Amino acid sequence: MSSGIASVASPEEIAKYEPVIGLEVHVQLNTRTKIFCGCPARFGAPPNTNVCPVCLGLPGALPVLNREAVEMAIQAALATHCRVNPFSRFARKNYFYPDLPKGYQISQYDQPLAEHGWIEVSAGGARKRIGVTRIHLEDDAGKSIHDGFKDSDRYTYVDLNRSGTPLIEIVSEPNLRSSEEAYEYLTELKQVIEYVGVSECDMEKGQLRCDANVSVRLKGAEKFGTKAEVKNLNSFRFAKLALDYEIARQVAVIESGGRVEQETRLYNVATGETAGMRSKEHAHDYRYFPEPDLVPLRVSEAWLERIRAEMPELPADKRQRFIESYGLREYDAQVLTATRAISDYFEKVATAAGDPRTAANWVTGDLLGALKGRDISEAPVSAEQLGELVGLIAKGEISGKLAKEIFAKMIETGDAARVIIDREGLRQISDTGALGQMVDEVIAANPKQVEQYKSGKTAVLGFLVGQVMKVSKGQANPAAVNELLRAKLL
Ligand code: ADP
Ligand code: ZN
Ligand code: MG
Repeated sequence: MSSGIASVASPEEIAKYEPVIGLEVHVQLNTRTKIFCGCPARFGAPPNTNVCPVCLGLPGALPVLNREAVEMAIQAALATHCRVNPFSRFARKNYFYPDLPKGYQISQYDQPLAEHGWIEVSAGGARKRIGVTRIHLEDDAGKSIHDGFKDSDRYTYVDLNRSGTPLIEIVSEPNLRSSEEAYEYLTELKQVIEYVGVSECDMEKGQLRCDANVSVRLKGAEKFGTKAEVKNLNSFRFAKLALDYEIARQVAVIESGGRVEQETRLYNVATGETAGMRSKEHAHDYRYFPEPDLVPLRVSEAWLERIRAEMPELPADKRQRFIESYGLREYDAQVLTATRAISDYFEKVATAAGDPRTAANWVTGDLLGALKGRDISEAPVSAEQLGELVGLIAKGEISGKLAKEIFAKMIETGDAARVIIDREGLRQISDTGALGQMVDEVIAANPKQVEQYKSGKTAVLGFLVGQVMKVSKGQANPAAVNELLRAKLL
């Protein structure tokens, strides 16, 4: 009776239940060639040109496992704290689909490559570990392209360029308890995969695909409810929206006396609803059996150690290092490690400037502000150039205020800070001779305030400093002006 119910539950009803969520994420590995043949694994080639007997599934063709794909899968496994099994095995997952010419997918079943990992997410202010059940390798299917909209003019084309590109499937434990946690998990997972560089994780290109399993149970109940699997989630935001809808739908089904059915549902972006697609197939429907054309996969201790030694620094470690060795605030460290490219940019600025904390302020504030959400690779000012500017502030050669003007001109002209300073005579005036003259001028022009100051109203000093700054057109060093004024007004 579930699928016919369109209504969703009220917030009060939803509040009685606890969602249970587990995610299955497919990530396309960016190997040069496909997982079981030598065809290029690249995108954008004309349809059906990157194909051979193996990935076309022609009779008699034999698969050969791509070492690079295994190494990338191991890197992803280590990055998610999984145990890599020394012995794993491929299995055939049988099903029919027009873009699956073999009639089966080569995947891993009872003996996957890696297991027992975790990913940390923030949940209500605290950190929470979400278990990674397993990571296994498999080949991707081809692509069906549907074209035409009239019944008399409707075609489906099959492009097998994607057939045989390597995927890893990352399966989480049902540890997630809200759509927010699911969103966090996906964000952290994507970040870590991007850091190790085994995939660009571009969801629009299908390099990262997510299926969400969700059930609800009364708060305090021990037993999990029956789950539904939601597919067709094209962005993390849609995944969150789809989960919110599905949670409300399941609560409504139960509250109205019905039972949630185990099924696969599709999220519809246009309506924001999920709809039943098929009743969930069971493992025995796939007739899994060990792949007879491939030997078992053995990962030696030495191989694993070599890969471990070559792992790049992971985001969590980098965050910690930024806090400890640069003295950054937690929040800044978070922002500056969001992607590997941002962290690299920041470290270059910090090194060139010799002042990591000022560098952090400039990268998180002015630079990211100027980017307005665009990628750091499009930064209008190079890390070296920004580093020079920040270095000039650190050395006291220019004030922070002046630096902002110079920064705006750097973006406008592409020139280096020093070039702009020299051209426009913008250097900060700290020379006491030149400043002394200006201070004298201001004292002479403001007898009333000078009198007030001398009679004990010292707050008026700020006004006098401001006057000197004005006279200097903002170029005076405020600290030096302050000192000079005090001395002269004694
Ligand atoms: P299936 O055999 O249906 O594929 P699995 O046990 O392999 O189910 O789990 C698939 C995904 O569903 C995993 O991410 C797991 O965490 C999640 N999952 C399992 N049971 C539940 C449940 N009752 N509610 C929500 N998610 C679940
Ligand atoms: Zn091929
Ligand atoms: Mg499963």
